Order: sequence, then C-alpha cells, then structure tokens
Amino acid sequence: MNEITDKTQVVTTRSTGNYYVTVEQAEKVIAAMSDKSAVIRIEGNAIATNDITGVVQGERIRELERRKQGETYCKKHSQWLPKGKTCGLCGLR
Ligand SMILES: [Zn+2]
Repeated sequence: MNEITDKTQVVTTRSTGNYYVTVEQAEKVIAAMSDKSAVIRIEGNAIATNDITGVVQGERIRELERRKQGETYCKKHSQWLPKGKTCGLCGLR
C-alpha cells in the first residue's frame, strides 16, 4: 500500500489508538502537550492531551506493526521478510 499522503506523523493515545496527522498538525499537538489539561481537535475527534502517549513518525508505526506480525527486516538487502521466511540473498531469517 503506497498511499500518497502528507499525514506522515502519528499521534498515539492510550484510549483511542493512533491518529495520522500532517507535520504541521503534529507541531501543534506537541506544543499543546505541555498543558496537561488541554483538549485538542484532530478531525472530528476531541482528544485530551493527557491521553496522548507520543507523536512519532508514521514509518516507525508501520515498522512496529510488521514486527508484531512476525516479519523481519534484512538491513543488508533492504527488504522485509515474511514470518518464517529467510532472505534469499543472505539467509537471514
Ligand atoms: Zn539479506
């Protein structure tokens, strides 16, 4: 899935999961986080800043999801290996 999107950042929350946002939105969220009683709006959602656990790059979340699904990344050959499969180039699994 190679969706073209400018929502490259992810706001992670304790109770309602992850929200993909733009870099600009992410900066606003980070600025609001210093006020623990603030509520921010992301699309139709009102989120308490004290429910936010972090603002991270989307790439990081995608990587985490792949690892959770048992995939391994071969750094040497820049490719993801499905669960149980070995890298055809170096034998990494
Ligand atoms: Zn390899």
